Amino acid sequence: MSARAPASSEHWSSLLHARGLRVTEGRLSVLGHIDAHPHSSASAIHAALAERRPPLSPQSVHNIVNDLTEHGLLRRIDPPDSDSALYETRLHDNHHHVQCIVCHCIEDVDCAVGAAPCILPPQTHSMRIIEATVTFRGICTACDCPDAHGSHGAATGPEATPTAAGSRSATCSPPSTRDLHHARTPPKKGISID
Ligand SMILES: [Zn+2]
Ligand SMILES: [Zn+2]
Ligand SMILES: [Zn+2]
Repeated sequence: MSARAPASSEHWSSLLHARGLRVTEGRLSVLGHIDAHPHSSASAIHAALAERRPPLSPQSVHNIVNDLTEHGLLRRIDPPDSDSALYETRLHDNHHHVQCIVCHCIEDVDCAVGAAPCILPPQTHSMRIIEATVTFRGICTACDCPDAHGSHGAATGPEATPTAAGSRSATCSPPSTRDLHHARTPPKKGISID
Protein backbone atom coordinates (compact mmCIF):
# COMPACT_ATOMS: atom_id res chain seq x y z
CA MET A 1 0.00 0.00 0.00
CA SER A 2 1.21 3.41 -0.83
CA ALA A 3 1.29 6.17 1.72
CA ARG A 4 0.90 8.84 -0.91
CA ALA A 5 -2.00 11.22 -0.77
CA PRO A 6 -4.65 10.28 -3.33
CA ALA A 7 -4.33 12.27 -6.52
CA SER A 8 -7.20 14.61 -7.29
CA SER A 9 -9.35 14.35 -10.38
CA GLU A 10 -7.81 17.67 -11.49
CA HIS A 11 -4.46 15.90 -11.45
CA TRP A 12 -5.78 13.10 -13.66
CA SER A 13 -7.62 15.56 -15.92
CA SER A 14 -4.44 17.50 -16.59
CA LEU A 15 -2.52 14.30 -17.32
CA LEU A 16 -5.24 13.17 -19.74
CA HIS A 17 -5.18 16.59 -21.40
CA ALA A 18 -1.41 16.50 -21.67
CA ARG A 19 -1.66 13.16 -23.52
CA GLY A 20 -4.34 14.50 -25.82
CA LEU A 21 -6.97 12.22 -24.28
CA ARG A 22 -10.52 13.24 -23.64
CA VAL A 23 -11.38 13.60 -19.96
CA THR A 24 -14.26 11.24 -19.27
CA GLU A 25 -15.94 10.19 -16.05
CA GLY A 26 -14.99 6.60 -16.81
CA ARG A 27 -11.30 7.35 -17.20
CA LEU A 28 -11.26 9.47 -14.05
CA SER A 29 -13.05 6.76 -12.06
CA VAL A 30 -10.67 4.07 -13.26
CA LEU A 31 -7.57 6.19 -12.57
CA GLY A 32 -8.87 7.13 -9.13
CA HIS A 33 -9.64 3.53 -8.28
CA ILE A 34 -6.27 2.17 -9.44
CA ASP A 35 -4.43 4.96 -7.63
CA ALA A 36 -6.16 3.95 -4.40
CA HIS A 37 -5.89 0.21 -5.11
CA PRO A 38 -2.62 -0.44 -6.91
CA HIS A 39 -2.19 -3.73 -8.78
CA SER A 40 -5.88 -4.06 -9.66
CA SER A 41 -7.07 -6.28 -12.47
CA ALA A 42 -9.61 -5.06 -15.00
CA SER A 43 -12.24 -7.37 -13.52
CA ALA A 44 -11.54 -6.10 -10.00
CA ILE A 45 -11.85 -2.53 -11.24
CA HIS A 46 -15.11 -3.36 -12.95
CA ALA A 47 -16.49 -4.99 -9.82
CA ALA A 48 -15.39 -2.09 -7.62
CA LEU A 49 -16.95 0.50 -9.91
CA ALA A 50 -20.17 -1.44 -10.50
CA GLU A 51 -22.13 0.97 -8.33
CA ARG A 52 -20.86 4.02 -10.18
CA ARG A 53 -23.19 6.01 -12.37
CA PRO A 54 -22.99 5.81 -15.27
CA PRO A 55 -21.96 2.15 -14.97
CA LEU A 56 -18.97 0.90 -16.92
CA SER A 57 -19.22 -2.32 -18.88
CA PRO A 58 -16.37 -4.84 -18.54
CA GLN A 59 -15.43 -3.99 -22.12
CA SER A 60 -15.22 -0.27 -21.34
CA VAL A 61 -12.96 -0.98 -18.38
CA HIS A 62 -10.72 -3.07 -20.63
CA ASN A 63 -10.65 -0.32 -23.24
CA ILE A 64 -9.88 2.33 -20.64
CA VAL A 65 -6.99 0.46 -19.00
CA ASN A 66 -5.55 -0.41 -22.43
CA ASP A 67 -5.77 3.20 -23.61
CA LEU A 68 -4.31 4.61 -20.42
CA THR A 69 -1.48 2.07 -20.48
CA GLU A 70 -0.74 2.86 -24.10
CA HIS A 71 -0.58 6.55 -23.29
CA GLY A 72 1.69 6.10 -20.32
CA LEU A 73 -0.80 6.87 -17.56
CA LEU A 74 -0.89 3.33 -16.22
CA ARG A 75 1.68 0.62 -15.87
CA ARG A 76 0.61 -2.91 -16.65
CA ILE A 77 2.28 -5.82 -14.91
CA ASP A 78 1.83 -9.54 -15.48
CA PRO A 79 3.11 -11.30 -12.37
CA PRO A 80 3.52 -15.07 -12.68
CA ASP A 81 1.06 -15.79 -9.87
CA SER A 82 -1.74 -13.56 -11.13
CA ASP A 83 -4.40 -14.81 -13.51
CA SER A 84 -4.72 -11.50 -15.28
CA ALA A 85 -2.79 -8.32 -15.92
CA LEU A 86 -2.67 -5.81 -13.08
CA TYR A 87 -2.54 -2.04 -13.35
CA GLU A 88 -0.98 0.69 -11.25
CA THR A 89 -0.42 4.43 -11.37
CA ARG A 90 3.07 4.35 -9.86
CA LEU A 91 5.22 4.95 -12.92
CA HIS A 92 8.72 5.79 -14.04
CA ASP A 93 10.62 4.53 -11.00
CA ASN A 94 11.24 1.03 -12.36
CA HIS A 95 9.99 -0.43 -9.09
CA HIS A 96 9.62 -4.16 -8.82
CA HIS A 97 7.14 -6.42 -7.10
CA VAL A 98 7.12 -9.14 -4.54
CA GLN A 99 4.25 -11.58 -4.70
CA CYS A 100 3.13 -14.27 -2.30
CA ILE A 101 2.99 -17.64 -4.05
CA VAL A 102 0.19 -18.76 -1.73
CA CYS A 103 -2.37 -15.93 -1.54
CA HIS A 104 -0.96 -13.95 -4.52
CA CYS A 105 -0.93 -10.67 -2.63
CA ILE A 106 1.49 -8.27 -4.23
CA GLU A 107 3.54 -5.36 -2.93
CA ASP A 108 5.87 -2.80 -4.42
CA VAL A 109 9.59 -2.98 -3.79
CA ASP A 110 11.93 -0.21 -4.80
CA CYS A 111 14.46 -0.79 -7.52
CA ALA A 112 17.97 -0.37 -6.16
CA VAL A 113 18.91 1.44 -9.37
CA GLY A 114 15.62 3.23 -10.05
CA ALA A 115 15.83 3.13 -13.83
CA ALA A 116 15.57 0.41 -16.43
CA PRO A 117 17.43 -1.73 -17.22
CA CYS A 118 18.67 -2.26 -13.71
CA ILE A 119 20.12 -5.68 -14.48
CA LEU A 120 22.06 -6.68 -17.57
CA PRO A 121 22.36 -10.30 -18.65
CA PRO A 122 25.79 -11.84 -19.27
CA GLN A 123 24.95 -12.03 -22.97
CA THR A 124 22.57 -9.76 -24.83
CA HIS A 125 22.56 -11.53 -28.23
CA SER A 126 23.16 -8.09 -29.71
CA MET A 127 19.87 -6.81 -28.33
CA ARG A 128 19.68 -3.40 -26.74
CA ILE A 129 18.29 -4.28 -23.34
CA ILE A 130 15.30 -2.11 -22.45
CA GLU A 131 14.31 -3.47 -19.08
CA ALA A 132 14.51 -6.37 -16.70
CA THR A 133 11.14 -7.47 -15.40
CA VAL A 134 11.82 -8.53 -11.86
CA THR A 135 9.17 -10.19 -9.73
CA PHE A 136 10.29 -11.56 -6.41
CA ARG A 137 8.22 -14.52 -5.29
CA GLY A 138 7.86 -15.33 -1.67
CA ILE A 139 5.45 -16.23 1.10
CA CYS A 140 3.83 -13.43 3.03
CA THR A 141 3.83 -13.46 6.80
CA ALA A 142 0.12 -14.28 6.99
CA CYS A 143 0.60 -17.37 4.79
CA ASP A 144 3.89 -18.33 6.42
CA CYS A 145 2.38 -18.74 9.87
CA PRO A 146 -1.40 -18.63 9.40
CA ASP A 147 -2.08 -19.59 13.01
CA ALA A 148 -0.24 -16.52 14.23
CA HIS A 149 -1.92 -14.01 11.97
CA GLY A 150 -5.48 -13.11 11.23
CA SER A 151 -6.98 -13.48 7.81
CA HIS A 152 -5.84 -11.25 4.99
CA GLY A 153 -7.38 -7.87 4.97
CA ALA A 154 -7.65 -7.68 8.72
CA ALA A 155 -5.13 -5.09 9.75
CA THR A 156 -3.14 -6.85 12.44
CA GLY A 157 -0.39 -4.70 13.77
CA PRO A 158 2.45 -3.41 11.63
CA GLU A 159 2.35 -3.77 7.89
CA ALA A 160 3.26 -7.22 6.73
CA THR A 161 6.80 -7.44 5.50
CA PRO A 162 6.91 -9.57 2.38
CA THR A 163 9.90 -11.82 2.09
CA ALA A 164 11.42 -12.70 -1.22
CA ALA A 165 12.24 -16.34 -1.75
CA GLY A 166 15.90 -16.85 -1.04
CA SER A 167 16.26 -13.83 1.17
CA ARG A 168 13.56 -14.52 3.68
CA SER A 169 13.90 -13.34 7.18
CA ALA A 170 12.43 -15.74 9.66
CA THR A 171 9.75 -13.75 11.40
CA CYS A 172 7.74 -16.71 12.60
CA SER A 173 7.92 -20.48 12.54
CA PRO A 174 10.79 -21.42 10.27
CA PRO A 175 10.05 -22.77 6.82
CA SER A 176 11.47 -26.11 5.83
CA THR A 177 14.27 -24.59 3.83
CA ARG A 178 17.36 -26.69 4.01
CA ASP A 179 19.73 -23.75 3.86
CA LEU A 180 18.15 -22.14 6.87
CA HIS A 181 20.82 -22.82 9.43
CA HIS A 182 19.10 -21.91 12.61
CA ALA A 183 15.52 -21.17 13.38
CA ARG A 184 14.94 -17.87 15.04
CA THR A 185 11.60 -17.81 16.76
CA PRO A 186 11.05 -14.34 18.12
CA PRO A 187 8.40 -13.89 20.76
CA LYS A 188 4.93 -13.82 19.30
CA LYS A 189 3.29 -10.48 18.94
CA GLY A 190 0.08 -9.69 20.72
CA ILE A 191 -2.51 -11.81 19.01
CA SER A 192 -6.17 -11.54 19.62
CA ILE A 193 -8.30 -14.44 18.52
CA ASP A 194 -11.94 -13.56 18.25
ZN1 LIG B 1 0.20 -14.81 1.32
ZN1 LIG C 1 3.69 -1.70 -8.25
ZN1 LIG D 1 15.72 -2.92 -10.28
